[in-house]
Amino acid sequence: MDGKGNPTPYLLVVLMLISVGTLFLSGCIDLGESGKVDVIITIEPQREMVERIGGDLVSVDVMVPTGQSPHSYSPLPSQLLDVAVADVYFMVGSGVEFEINHLSTLREQNDDMVVVDCSEGVEILEFGEHHEEEAEESHDHGTEDPHIWLSPGNYRTMAGNVYRALMEMDPDNEGTYSENYEAYIEELDALILELEIMFEPHDGREFLTYHPGWGYFGDDLNLTQMTIEEEGKKPGPLGLAALIDQAREHNITVVYVEPQFDTSSAEVIAESIGGEVVQIDLLAPNYIENIRDVAVKIEGGFGN
Ligand SMILES: [Zn+2]
Repeated sequence: MDGKGNPTPYLLVVLMLISVGTLFLSGCIDLGESGKVDVIITIEPQREMVERIGGDLVSVDVMVPTGQSPHSYSPLPSQLLDVAVADVYFMVGSGVEFEINHLSTLREQNDDMVVVDCSEGVEILEFGEHHEEEAEESHDHGTEDPHIWLSPGNYRTMAGNVYRALMEMDPDNEGTYSENYEAYIEELDALILELEIMFEPHDGREFLTYHPGWGYFGDDLNLTQMTIEEEGKKPGPLGLAALIDQAREHNITVVYVEPQFDTSSAEVIAESIGGEVVQIDLLAPNYIENIRDVAVKIEGGFGN
């Protein structure tokens, strides 16, 4: 260009820089010593999609351990060390308190960690936007409902985001990820169909749970979630009395409780309506099996 002869080495360096830059931009990662993609997830239900799609190519650490609530948990120092060596953080992305409160701390541990929002493509609703009882409108204070993963349809979308991120970060193993993803999606679709058939005869029914986690699940199946807890609080005596009336009105005989919460008020209601308390888990690691288990329990509560 300047006529002084040999631009080739300079050009070569420029070309090399461009290709390195492209690799970086496309999120391609160096798998480091473990030789695996080191993944951080927020809650256990995300584990199945990551482990099924990633197979032996991923290693997963969860931030909110079993038995803890993602609404209140803080990471331990040992967990921050896991984050420091992680390749990617798969956030739920729907406003889970743990993520709102701790994302910046997690990022501070590791500048290179790719952060993927798994809720991309999922419609996040406010509590009051689900199929809900009029008397439950007190939930509707413009708060977004973070429990998106409990709809298998949403979970399918989240799995797609995990799949695309793994393909981009580790394109050498594209074939494996694709095969795993297709197989897993087939199982999820079978679950979705199974639930639709199961709940078809119960169109429009109400079910009563302690924690307001099952709104998206209900929306998928045209069921209405009624909840005991309101805005993370136990009901007072008046609220409790109103709930007992409503439960009677809707022929509710089962009160569903989530093991992460103190559910003494559920016992009170169950006793008053001559019903029973049944446990359902919104944070179990084995997703498909757990959702099927919950569905069977909720369907069982509808009687004939
Ligand atoms: Zn919750």
